[in-house]
Amino acid sequence: MDSDEFRRRGKEMIDAIADYHDSIRDRRPLADVTPGYLQELLPRVAPEQPEQWDDVFKDIERAIMPGVTHWHHPQFHAYYPAGFSYPSLLGEMLCDAIGCVGFSWIASPACTELETIVLDWLGKALGLPEAFLTNESDASGKPQCGGGVIQGSASEALLVGVLAARTRSVKKLQEKDPSLSVQQAMDKLIAYASDHVHSAFQKGGLLAGVRTRTLPTDDEFSLRGDSLKQAIEEDIKAGFVPCFVCATLGTTSFCSFDNLPEIGPICQENDVWLHIDAAYAGGALICPEFRHFGNGIEFADSFNFNAHKWFLTNFDCSCMWVKNRAPLITAMSPITTPAFLRNAASETGLVTDYMHWEIPLGRRFRSLKLWFVLRLFGITGIQNHIRKHIELAKRFESYMKNDNRFRIVGKRHLGLVCFQLKAGDDELNRKLLKQLNASGKLHLVSTELEGKAVLRFVICSAQTEEKDVDFSWQVISQTTTAILSRKKKEDEGLSKQHQ
Ligand code: PLP
Repeated sequence: MDSDEFRRRGKEMIDAIADYHDSIRDRRPLADVTPGYLQELLPRVAPEQPEQWDDVFKDIERAIMPGVTHWHHPQFHAYYPAGFSYPSLLGEMLCDAIGCVGFSWIASPACTELETIVLDWLGKALGLPEAFLTNESDASGKPQCGGGVIQGSASEALLVGVLAARTRSVKKLQEKDPSLSVQQAMDKLIAYASDHVHSAFQKGGLLAGVRTRTLPTDDEFSLRGDSLKQAIEEDIKAGFVPCFVCATLGTTSFCSFDNLPEIGPICQENDVWLHIDAAYAGGALICPEFRHFGNGIEFADSFNFNAHKWFLTNFDCSCMWVKNRAPLITAMSPITTPAFLRNAASETGLVTDYMHWEIPLGRRFRSLKLWFVLRLFGITGIQNHIRKHIELAKRFESYMKNDNRFRIVGKRHLGLVCFQLKAGDDELNRKLLKQLNASGKLHLVSTELEGKAVLRFVICSAQTEEKDVDFSWQVISQTTTAILSRKKKEDEGLSKQHQ
């Protein structure tokens, strides 16, 4: 494909993308295929000779689309939102067109510098304490030692946080007792989170070789100071060294919030690294009326939220800030930098080399899409998007509240409503979920509370309107009516048999 054909095909592809989004309502949100479906549709080996673009293009609808779950469908209400917008897509295109691998400043100075600037913009827009920003100075005029970086995912950010915390704690332990080996010091370390933390916490602990402990939460699924304090005291007595706490703002199951003003001072007193996982809910801090969800953020050593969730930005774009870059860089830097990565700019110590802030070496020019989103929507545009989702979730919640067949589980804080059928057992809730998804009209997933299914309804798509929420509610209500009347008939049949 030469540049002339690329111009032609590129325009066709842009049209196809716009058509896909314009007509997404005509598709079913959840893919309806069986495992291995694609094996039946594609050849077993790659083509020996080049094919025609038209043939490749036809296969998108024939082979790929049947197996796509449409995350931007207005009736996609599962998980949490996946970001999408046209400005972001244009940023992705430019990123791929430039195609640089910006691991060090010199490898593509704009890639590094734009990331630093955009994360400072964003940090300010979210109201993060200045200590997290790169290009700010403290009250005495000294430059800050914190800064922001784009990671691939919240899981990576969490792992990077654990590794930085581990490095800091091992260093301190070895300073106290120089006879301790790194492994001996690591064996003492322990990390904490609530029992509603994302599984990325256990994965991070496993990969970093740091023991993890989850702690009970209160009635609102929030980790409280008492619970953490008690665990830390018990573990210190048992000879462990508390190293890391992951507090969640907006848990995956219920969008509950750990109590930062209580947890933060306990972390400080015990010299424990506090990481905040705000993968979904962190985006809401851009709205002044939701800023209170971040109260206590000033205690954190690292803070992360996924711009690729609620910020109209395509995957992947997980924004992480640290208050002190030194332990992070120490944890992520090889003992000796290979000759091919050494350069004069790095040796000045005046530039940021993001390869020392993350696990991979290579990195894409991801800040472009975020820059486009911030400029083309403005802070106001993003605020409006988030506010609209929350209003739609409130609308759904009010339907649920006015129907005494349902109970809301936990408190709705943002765009997630969790619910159960009051009547019947766990089986009935699982049946409801299965039938809703099988209807092809909407897509939901469930979580569990005390082993029982809880259905989660999240506003995800930028295209979801009031009429879509009303439609989803009607489908849920009608499916419930059918399930309950069938159950009633079965119960009556059973009681007749017993008479
Ligand atoms: N943390 C929370 C609170 C989440 O809700 C999620 C995913 O939804 C994650 C972490 C994992 O995110 P990622 O896929 O970016 O690793």
